[in-house]
Amino acid sequence: MQRLARDWRREGVEIGCVPTMGCLHAGHLSLIERARREAGPGGRLVVSVYVNPTQFGPREDFSTYPRDLKRDARLCREAGVDVLFAPTDEQMYPGAFEEKYSTYVIEEELSRGMEGASRPTHFRGVTTIVAKLFNIIQPHLAVFGAKDYQQAAIIERMAKNLNFPVRVLVAPTLREEDGLAMSSRNKYLEGELRGEAVVLWRSIEKVRAAVRSASRPVPAGRLKTMVQRLVRSQAHARLDYVEFFEPESLSPLAKVGRGAHIALAVFVGETRLIDNARL
Ligand code: AMP
Repeated sequence: MQRLARDWRREGVEIGCVPTMGCLHAGHLSLIERARREAGPGGRLVVSVYVNPTQFGPREDFSTYPRDLKRDARLCREAGVDVLFAPTDEQMYPGAFEEKYSTYVIEEELSRGMEGASRPTHFRGVTTIVAKLFNIIQPHLAVFGAKDYQQAAIIERMAKNLNFPVRVLVAPTLREEDGLAMSSRNKYLEGELRGEAVVLWRSIEKVRAAVRSASRPVPAGRLKTMVQRLVRSQAHARLDYVEFFEPESLSPLAKVGRGAHIALAVFVGETRLIDNARL
């Protein structure tokens, strides 16, 4: 991949990339479309599919995470992707088990709260794998989804702080008709759980309506209680966190007005779902 990227760069070809964990859905395809537009007609598109073990906690779903490389390859081919980069664990972390893998990239500010608080080693895994992918694919631009809002902010910060010559772009969240954010993990939602999963989007809409109809900023505590109640009304749903924050710095807000950002994580059955939106 590095050799290919070097040759492309020598020819002046623009390289766009979309890092994913596979099990591709329409959300991923929209990022691929964006990357194609940004790379231009002579550009090349690389999609990586890699379920990165270092971003999963010990009690998380690494081993059961849905994988379907054959289908991913077909979808990439249909989308006109030039290279599907799907490395093995041994290729990405050579000698990991003999403890020869010991280098990580750590972002220390934006990754503290929310997903970082609930999943302590998660972002270290994300920044490390994305830094590795940037070094391997050597893209001019990379597209990430606003679905993982905190992740996108951290990657933008990392690219800036570590001088990666990569334009980091963030594309909007694609949703199912009822509002559920598309996610590979939605595959886990069987029977009534699929219906209950809409509670994340309904929470966002309810908070948004409350903030928009209020004449002044609303105390975050009041909105959190609203979300807690709504989530609790679903038989199999459990709120992990809901946070209100300033969209650039990710700093928590005590009072929430228009332009603030909401993010939440909810367990629906065993499945942990996240969502976020500008209010
Ligand atoms: P994943 O395969 O879940 O790690 O996601 C790979 C990339 O696709 C990340 O940048 C995600 O933010 C993005 N993505 C995932 N779901 C969606 C969605 N529903 N809409 C837009 N982008 C998404």
